[in-house]
Amino acid sequence: MKLISGKLKVSTVEAVCKKTAIDLAGEMRCSFPAFNGNRLNLEKHVLKSLAEKDDFSGFITYIHQPRKHVESFIKEEIQKYIFTSHKDKARDILKKNVEDMKQHVSRALFTATEKVKTQRGNTDMWLEEFTSSLKDQLKFDSICPENFRDINSFEFLKEEIEKSLEPIMKEMNNLSLNEMNEFRLKPDQILIDQLCKCCWVTCPFCAAVCTNTMEDHSPEKHSVPFHRPSGIKGWHYRGTVELAIDFCTTNVASDKSFYPRHDSDKSIPYKQYPEGGDEYAAWMITPDESNLTYWKWFVCRFQKQLEDHYELKFQGRGEIPSEWRKYSKEEAIKSLDEMYNL
Ligand SMILES: [Zn+2]
Ligand SMILES: [Zn+2]
Repeated sequence: MKLISGKLKVSTVEAVCKKTAIDLAGEMRCSFPAFNGNRLNLEKHVLKSLAEKDDFSGFITYIHQPRKHVESFIKEEIQKYIFTSHKDKARDILKKNVEDMKQHVSRALFTATEKVKTQRGNTDMWLEEFTSSLKDQLKFDSICPENFRDINSFEFLKEEIEKSLEPIMKEMNNLSLNEMNEFRLKPDQILIDQLCKCCWVTCPFCAAVCTNTMEDHSPEKHSVPFHRPSGIKGWHYRGTVELAIDFCTTNVASDKSFYPRHDSDKSIPYKQYPEGGDEYAAWMITPDESNLTYWKWFVCRFQKQLEDHYELKFQGRGEIPSEWRKYSKEEAIKSLDEMYNL
């Protein structure tokens, strides 16, 4: 008897947590601004949050390991949603799932008993009926009837199960959202699976992440609506400490050239950038003037930190244009909305 109630306890708690994780993820997908739109929408919220936090080390992770940063952004937002901003709603979802589960179990007890009574069955039949009417909600992997051979009254079995269920039901009432973390399926994992299943290839010049929603979209080339100044990724003029300040979209229209690798002795004109090798040829960089204010603000705001990080300088050919300095953080954040006006 301990065996079945032990299993029932684990599987009811697990099923309730799993259902709650799915419900919470679904809820956030519908109503949480960062998660209810497309890829660019998520990107916009990630950038907005980095700017608001003024978090340089977050920026560095985002630039060099974008997926890692986006995953931790998702986790953090979920924690805030469940435990702070929408904690009552989250608790209500959990409570409802606990109630539903209790209903399922008591209905299963009732139907199993009714059926065995009318068909004059035995304990095996009772147990079979009980577990099969719960199979959509719970998984019983190894309750085998052998364990109950010595019980000859299903009424007795039912009463014993009911009795042993009482503490389980009581415990379920105290189930907290924290306990979801003990199970494999968490809202974080569901949303990461949904939102991060896309292309993560970064621009070889500025590290902007391809915005294609397919993980593998060859032969279609990687592309992004907005590039950045390539100094953000550490590009600089060879043999100098001068960081590159131009946006990729400006470079590919210029007469300048670049060395595709640190050890290349031959430079390639930017206009023929695909000749730099596969990682360059895989990108479609169209020359245009679409320079997002956000990145101009970013370079000015974190000039010192970027210079220290790369041990290089925004000077000489890499001098920051003085008009970039007039942008406020608010204007930078507001410019992110341009990502939609394409
Ligand atoms: Zn780029
Ligand atoms: Zn791509």
